[in-house]
Formats: sequence, C-alpha cells, structure tokens
Amino acid sequence: METIAERLKSVQNTVEQSTLDAHRPSNSVKLLAVSKTKPVSNIVQAYEAGQYCFGENYVQEGVEKIQHLRALDKIEWHFIGPLQSNKTRLVAEHFDWVQTIDRLKTAQRLNDQTSPFKKLNVCIQVNIDNEENKAGIKTEQLNELAKAISALPNLILRGLMTIPMANQTSEKQAASFAQMSSLFKNMQKHYPTVDTLSMGMSGDMHNAILNGSTMVRVGTAIFGARNQ
Ligand SMILES: *Cc1c(COP(=O)(O)O)cnc(C)c1O
Repeated sequence: METIAERLKSVQNTVEQSTLDAHRPSNSVKLLAVSKTKPVSNIVQAYEAGQYCFGENYVQEGVEKIQHLRALDKIEWHFIGPLQSNKTRLVAEHFDWVQTIDRLKTAQRLNDQTSPFKKLNVCIQVNIDNEENKAGIKTEQLNELAKAISALPNLILRGLMTIPMANQTSEKQAASFAQMSSLFKNMQKHYPTVDTLSMGMSGDMHNAILNGSTMVRVGTAIFGARNQ
C-alpha cells in the first residue's frame, strides 16, 4: 500500500508532467485535494506532505472537518458540492472558496452572509455538456451571471468550474474542456480577478491540463477509493 504522501507526490508529478506536455509554465496548475468522505487524519497526512488546498462536497461534513483542523493555519477550504440555499450561511462562514455557484440567489446569500473580515472566492459552475441532471449554468447564461456576481462586494469572482460528461471519448471530453477554456479566456478580458479554470479529476486531469485547466480537483488518486 502506498501512503497518502506517496500518492500525493505521484499526482503532483502527473500535474507537472501534463503542464509541461501542454507547453505551459511550470507550477501554473493548482492541485485541490478532494477529501470528501475521508477522515481528518488523512487530511493531516496530506497537509504534512505540503498539500494546503482541500475540497469538500457536503456542508455538515466539511464544517466539522474545518472546525477540527483549525490549528492547520495554511489550509484553504473549497466547497465543491451542490449548495442548497438554506445551507449558504455555514458555507459562507467557514469556507474560503465556493466553486459551485449556478444561480444569482445563492451568490447573493453568500455575499450577505460571509463574515465582515473576509471575502469569499467564487467560481461559476458550467454544465458544459448540457446534461439533464447536472448542476451548472448553460453557456448562454454565463455573461449575465458573471456580471451580476462581479457587482457583489463581498465575493471575488475567480473563474469557472466544470464536471464534463462521464464515459465519453477523450476527444469529446477534450472538446468540452477546450470550450471551457475559451469561455474562461473571454471572461478574463472583462474581469481582472478571474484566474481560475477548475476542471479535471483523478481520471481526466491530463486531458484537462492539456486543454487549459488551472486547477485540478483530485480525490481518489490521492486518498484512495471512497466507500460512500
Ligand atoms: C468527488 C469530486 C472530485 C474528485 O473526484 P476523483 O475522481 O475522486 O478525483 C472532483 N470534483 C468534484 C466536484 C467532486 O465531487
């Protein structure tokens, strides 16, 4: 069995090699370690191996871990799950980023509920393959939502996030990633705070990085398979 530190190292190598394969600058892709369903002891192991950004999908679970790990002062928490409007307060108070904004109402609530001492970083989730039961906005809705969010004083619009359709060919997936990249580059022309294109997971990080991802969200390849 490899340790978490060893698997983390191997994921870092994949990220760096993919970045070089894409002829992009070294260290231009951030690694988010997705720790959902995994115990805090696993997060501590990754932290001690130098990983400081973690993603959680479930509000209650995430908040409990954040409270438990307060002493790890370099840690940055990203909320990457579906967000119901009655849970926004907990997320606004405890997380540093929310990557799954797909309606203005959620953004407005987060803006009103975040603590006066911090700003919340947000990404808009795009349903790039127009899947019926998937969260995220359609591409046509992006300009209007980005504009409205950029006017909210307590949020910092950082960019876009997507989860492409599962089980499609790597060519089709590359086309979806490339489409995201062009939306992202266009957004950067209008909003100086936009620097993040969050796409790519354990199974498709190479393809995502080749097509412009600046942040991959990796769970299984670091922490092993999930039971739930
Ligand atoms: C679970 C999850 C991941 C990580 O997926 P792996 O395949 O385990 O790397 C990434 N992004 C989101 C939004 C997730 O829910």
